[in-house]
Amino acid sequence: MNGKIDFKGRTFKWRTSFPDSFKFECLKCAYCCGIHYPTLREDEALKIRRITGLKLQDFIEPAFMPVSINDPYQYQIKKDESGVCVFLDKKTRLCRIHRDKPLICRTWPFQIMFQYPEIVVDVFYSCYAIASGKARRFRTDFSIEDLIKEMIECNADLFLQAMSLQKTFQEKYLVSLDDEAAKLVCWDFIVERGIEDFNPFNFKALISSYQKKVSE
Ligand code: SF4
Ligand code: SF4
Repeated sequence: MNGKIDFKGRTFKWRTSFPDSFKFECLKCAYCCGIHYPTLREDEALKIRRITGLKLQDFIEPAFMPVSINDPYQYQIKKDESGVCVFLDKKTRLCRIHRDKPLICRTWPFQIMFQYPEIVVDVFYSCYAIASGKARRFRTDFSIEDLIKEMIECNADLFLQAMSLQKTFQEKYLVSLDDEAAKLVCWDFIVERGIEDFNPFNFKALISSYQKKVSE
């Protein structure tokens, strides 16, 4: 799947990292509520505090892997003593804050990656429906386009900053590499995108295919 999306006067291409034949449907097993550590933004944490009456420290803790101090996802939801999310009802396997759960929980197992010039929609293969092969169709509560829109709108600064940094990086990166390293970067890029019209034995052509695609 792929397409284009408009955001703040600019158009970005997007694609999924999985093929059109990919199958996913949530089996409501709640496995993900034990294995992933949902990070959340300040507004999401404050909303949960308001609706539950809990103190922040009762349900959040510093995230294991914040990207930088400017990353809005500095905290994650805590696990209980048995290792599952503190908001999971273990009897019913339902989320006790379902209507107000963070974006990351609403969209899991999907995530988006900013890979200038594209937005790539990726998936966590540790989701039980996917790992077990029990999903029989592709069904989500949202369209892939809506998922991307919501994720980039909620993280607008981070998104634009990441795209701009990667643009600079990709435009200048090859210049700083030796031939062998540059070849590998181009090769990975071209193979990952399934580009067919390139000649891997012609190094200059390989680099120029990469540069052409990056600037499109
Ligand atoms: S692990 Fe996958 S199938 Fe199970 S509840 Fe989470 S998203 Fe749904
Ligand atoms: S907030 Fe809800 S959906 Fe998210 S991990 Fe916890 S129980 Fe699961």
